[in-house]
Amino acid sequence: MFFTIDMWGPINTVLKINWYFYVRMQLVFASHNKNKVKEISELIPSGIYLLGLSDIDCNDEIDETAITIEGNALIKAKFVYDNYKLNCFADDSGLEAEALNGAPGVYSARYAGEPKNDENNIQKLLRDLNGIENRNAQFKTIISLIIDGKAQQFEGIIKGKITTQKRGSNGFGYDPIFVPDGYDRTFAEMDSETKNKISHRGIAVKKLVEFLNK
Ligand code: IMP
Repeated sequence: MFFTIDMWGPINTVLKINWYFYVRMQLVFASHNKNKVKEISELIPSGIYLLGLSDIDCNDEIDETAITIEGNALIKAKFVYDNYKLNCFADDSGLEAEALNGAPGVYSARYAGEPKNDENNIQKLLRDLNGIENRNAQFKTIISLIIDGKAQQFEGIIKGKITTQKRGSNGFGYDPIFVPDGYDRTFAEMDSETKNKISHRGIAVKKLVEFLNK
C-alpha cells in the first residue's frame, strides 16, 4: 500500500505520540508558543512529557469566544481533549481594574481593538482611568486541566495598582503600568525571575505543578 504525502503527517504524529506514551505520561499544553511550553516543561514533574500544539500537529487558532477568563481557558483545553483525546491544560490571563468593573479582563489582549497592540492597550487603560483615584487592579490566570475527561481549574491572582505613567521596559502587555502590592517597582522594572516568582501565572502554574506531583 502507498501512503500519500498528506497521510504522513497524521501517521508520524500517531507514531510519535505512541512512542511518548510508552516512555512517559504525556500532557498537552494548548499553546502555540514554544517558549511558554519549554518554560512550563521545566517546572512539571519529570515523569510527564509535555507537548505543545505543534507537537500534535494542531495548527488551528482556537476561538476564544467566552466572556470570562475561566471560560476561555476551558474552551482551549476542551478543544484539544475533544479533538485529539489527549490529556491537556490551557491557560488564559487578564488584568482586571476595580474602578472599571473588572475591565479589560477577558478582553485584555485586544482592549484597544484589532490588531492587538500592547502600547495602544496601555494608553486606552490610562485614559479610562484618567482622574480616577481608585487604581486597584489584579492580574488573574486560570489554568484549565483535563485528565481523562475530568476538568479542574487552578487560579493565580496578584493584586496591585495601576500607575499613571509607564515605567520600565521588561516584560510585555500591561507590565509597565502595574505595581504589585508590597513592591514599589512595576512588573516591567523587575527581572523576569522576580516577576515569575510572584506573578498570577507563576502562582497558577505552581498550583498545577503541586497537583501533578501528588
Ligand atoms: P494571555 O491569556 O496569557 O495571552 O494574556 C492575555 C492578555 O492579558 C495579554 O495579551 C496581555 O495584554 C495581558 N496579560 C496577561 N498576563 C500579563 C502579564 O503577566 N503582564 C502583562 N500583561 C499581561
